[in-house]
Amino acid sequence: AYRKGGYHAVRIGDQFSGGRYIAQRKLGWGQFSTVWLAYDTRTSNYVALKIQKSSLQFAQAALHEIELLQAAADGDPANTKCVVRLIDDFKHTGPNGQHLCMVLEFLGDSLLRLIKYNRYKGMELSKVREICKYILTGLDYLHRELGMIHSDLKPENILLCSTIDPAKDPIRSGLTPILEKPEGNQNGTSTMTLIEKKLKRRAKKAAAKISGRRVSIIGLSEPPKKTKRNLDGIDMRCKVVDFGNGCWADKKFAEEIQTRQYRAPEVILQSGYSYSVDMWSFACTAFELATGDMLFAPKEGNGYGEDEDHLALMMELLGKIPRKIAIGGARSKDYFDRHGDLKRIRRLKYWPLDRLLIDKYKLPEAEAREFADFLCPIMDFAPEKRPTAQQCLQHPWLNLRTQSNEGNIEGQMSNMQIKG
Ligand code: ATP
Ligand code: MG
Ligand code: MG
Repeated sequence: AYRKGGYHAVRIGDQFSGGRYIAQRKLGWGQFSTVWLAYDTRTSNYVALKIQKSSLQFAQAALHEIELLQAAADGDPANTKCVVRLIDDFKHTGPNGQHLCMVLEFLGDSLLRLIKYNRYKGMELSKVREICKYILTGLDYLHRELGMIHSDLKPENILLCSTIDPAKDPIRSGLTPILEKPEGNQNGTSTMTLIEKKLKRRAKKAAAKISGRRVSIIGLSEPPKKTKRNLDGIDMRCKVVDFGNGCWADKKFAEEIQTRQYRAPEVILQSGYSYSVDMWSFACTAFELATGDMLFAPKEGNGYGEDEDHLALMMELLGKIPRKIAIGGARSKDYFDRHGDLKRIRRLKYWPLDRLLIDKYKLPEAEAREFADFLCPIMDFAPEKRPTAQQCLQHPWLNLRTQSNEGNIEGQMSNMQIKG
């Protein structure tokens, strides 16, 4: 809602932070913000500008997100730990109030987009494996080094590291460029890309204002209508984003965390939670990448709610929740009787993960077993028994030989070294 306390309406060419950033194109939005591709005139780089809704509640959430992102940036000067980098933050006053803005490094498509590009068919396990390594690297950093819980891990909140420079490769980056160059200056310091034709004049003015020179528009083009993605040869490097729901393990803010489908059982039962909730979401995410389907998609039914359906789905896949765990949470009485059986859903159809991968998703048996062996321990109903991100990084599944380096001596050698 673009109203008081809500989103800040942005027009292409709008300037932020005293003219340092110029809005180019909307990248996405969430419940809290809109996110724009912007050009940083100070560094001549493209950045993602996250503009928070203005009301107090959203402003507080943004301050909190900035605190977490800042801590993540401070602890990783080399920017190698798979967490989105905060570059700057400032306030912007508009007609709907004062908006906190975060300037983030510009990243590429989310893994959810990637799943969609693949028409929900799932991607090769070698790609999934690559992506898993990056996510786990990020989680290990957040958990072990920073003491932070992300609390909202899911494909939408993991973005590919963009290797695309919007200025050099506007088509692949999905931009329709209007290139502007200052007249009589080849250095092109105020080169901008802007998309809508009707905004040409506006863009021209804005560019001229910044560069202090007149500029001319060189060209216009349309992005291809449907860009299909061939994942061959694409580097799957990715980073964890959206720290709006993050917290410190020793300073939590909410009982109910995580997006429904990625929510851990202890959160539903309210038996207390820690880092291992992110591991649960990680396992759900890995499954979704491999199959194109959400691992758990609970629905409310006749006589039972979404929570109870969710618990039933978990048990059908992973076996019965041990009684002690089932009845140990503040909300347990809502769903379980004293024997540890669900109150309203009595008949469960067990379908273990390896069988599911073989029968429904047609994975070869050996591959399915290996993948299930990797995922199942991460979905232990006892949170303290789940492996940590660090332990997962040691798991043989992540270092399995893939077809592409099979028979390649070097590949085998380096695998042996990793294992040894
Ligand atoms: P939510 O409702 O999920 O909490 P939010 O308002 O906190 O949303 P984000 O999830 O941080 O916002 O960002 C919204 C969308 O903007 C993302 O899903 C993504 O498409 C895009 N986006 C966010 N950060 C970046 C970035 N650094 N680079 C490129 N795109 C980004
Ligand atoms: Mg988000
Ligand atoms: Mg958020």
